[in-house]
Amino acid sequence: MIEVRNLTKRYGGTTAVDDLSFTVHSGRVTGFLGPNGAGKSTTMRMVLGLDRPSAGEALVGGRRYRELTHPLRHVGALLDPSAVHLGRRALDHLRWIAASNGIDRRRAVELVEQVGLGGARDKRIRALSLGMRQRLGVAAALLGDPQVLMFDEPVNGLDPEGVRWIRDLLRGLADEGRTVFVSSHLMSEMALTADHVVIVARGRLVKETSIGALTEKG
Ligand code: ADP
Ligand code: ADP
Repeated sequence: MIEVRNLTKRYGGTTAVDDLSFTVHSGRVTGFLGPNGAGKSTTMRMVLGLDRPSAGEALVGGRRYRELTHPLRHVGALLDPSAVHLGRRALDHLRWIAASNGIDRRRAVELVEQVGLGGARDKRIRALSLGMRQRLGVAAALLGDPQVLMFDEPVNGLDPEGVRWIRDLLRGLADEGRTVFVSSHLMSEMALTADHVVIVARGRLVKETSIGALTEKG
């Protein structure tokens, strides 16, 4: 479960997230829908302890990210893939993340196969296509077998096969009872992926609803 309570983030004169409150439950895919600039990434970054809230708090399984001893065992995230270490080899990257999070390094070998990167495991990250980097990011997010997963615009720039792979992945994780939170600026994508949506605009909550209620035509 992810709990966002009265979360606010200001950057100088800009209020990126404005008194936002919602809860993301387990066992379903929850979409985080809103136009570009609505504050979705900023919210996810605060849940992950990468940005400090100006007010309010974000909790994962009842605790703040920074209070978790091995965060990757509780929450995995796929954020902007540009943050990754380009000179490192794919499998070494996963092993390094495992080692720095108290996770058995053998998990890295399992995961690199599971995401379909077995044949590219010794390639440097800079030599991987965007779709392959997304898969590597997914492997990193899954390393610690976390109950909570967050994906920031995961299908952006992917080819149809990559898009289908991500959709199936999200569904599978939710069916395993995990908490799956995925952002998109596209209603059409949410309709295909999510069970429930949290809609934001200008940093504020617009609506929280089941996807059925949102897409019903009459
Ligand atoms: P979304 O993910 O919904 O596209 P963001 O969370 O990226 O939205 O951005 C929300 C707002 O916060 C935007 O106006 C953006 O320009 C601003 N913003 C985000 N990060 C920063 C930052 N590091 N410094 C200043 N402004 C920022
Ligand atoms: P450090 O603070 O030394 O970078 P961390 O254990 O925080 O060590 O992170 C190691 C690597 O794992 C980094 O590349 C980071 O981007 C990635 N990472 C950290 N937390 C998560 C997470 N929740 N999901 C996916 N990757 C993560």
